Amino acid sequence: MRPAQRRLLFFSVIFLILGSVGGGFAGKSIGRKSAERTAKKAITDAEKKLEATQEELQAANQLLQDSGVINDEETRKRLEEFQDGIPWNMTLVNTVHSMEEGYVPELTEVENGLSVDARIAEELNAMLAAARADGINPYLLSAYRSIERQAQVFNDTVQSWMEQGADYWTAYQNTCKEVALPGTSEHGLGLAVDIVDNSYTGLDAEQANTATAQWLQAHCAEYGFILRYPADKESATGIIYEAWHYRYVGKEYAQKIQASGLTLEEYLGEVY
Ligand SMILES: [Zn+2]
Repeated sequence: MRPAQRRLLFFSVIFLILGSVGGGFAGKSIGRKSAERTAKKAITDAEKKLEATQEELQAANQLLQDSGVINDEETRKRLEEFQDGIPWNMTLVNTVHSMEEGYVPELTEVENGLSVDARIAEELNAMLAAARADGINPYLLSAYRSIERQAQVFNDTVQSWMEQGADYWTAYQNTCKEVALPGTSEHGLGLAVDIVDNSYTGLDAEQANTATAQWLQAHCAEYGFILRYPADKESATGIIYEAWHYRYVGKEYAQKIQASGLTLEEYLGEVY
């Protein structure tokens, strides 16, 4: 073979090798590109499906919310805890959740001739004592009220509106804003108390400014109580801000509820 022929053969071989290697790369590259296209299409399809599902989920959530049921993940998780029933200290009583008929708690007298559910007496006494030790003058105005007593308070209030010139229906409506219908008051459970300041016993907005109201807001959870009807929560509780009404739920729940910023209704997923 002549040197020129050898060179030609050498370059041909190199060319062939390069060609096959390059072809291989090109083939691989084409294979990769098609896999990439398939994957991208799959992702796009999945994204579209996800979007559609999210829209569906949103619509379903909206439906649920419109029907008055809370449906967020936090609430669902919280409610899992109550699957086997609501513990006695978390019983919800309000205008749409009336008390179990004929329910009367076992009572213990605390002060001013008033009684509460025997299970909360110790902590209520401890809370009042701690406030007094801090130089505060709380006055226990109301505690357990029987159905009969609640009915009497309700009827007396209707009567007093009528004496002021209201017709029965107006008097009844006005009373509903101030007094719970018998069977729909937490006072019937023996788990609620109205505490005011000795220097100001009015059950109105002014009460919130008293030293007692402020001390209680700061310390109630340490004794298992919550401010049951906070300001700006009327839509959740159906009751105006009552700076004096405290509800026993136990230390654990009092702290959880306080940290959550929710009302008892919201905490239990029962908002209307
Ligand atoms: Zn009350």
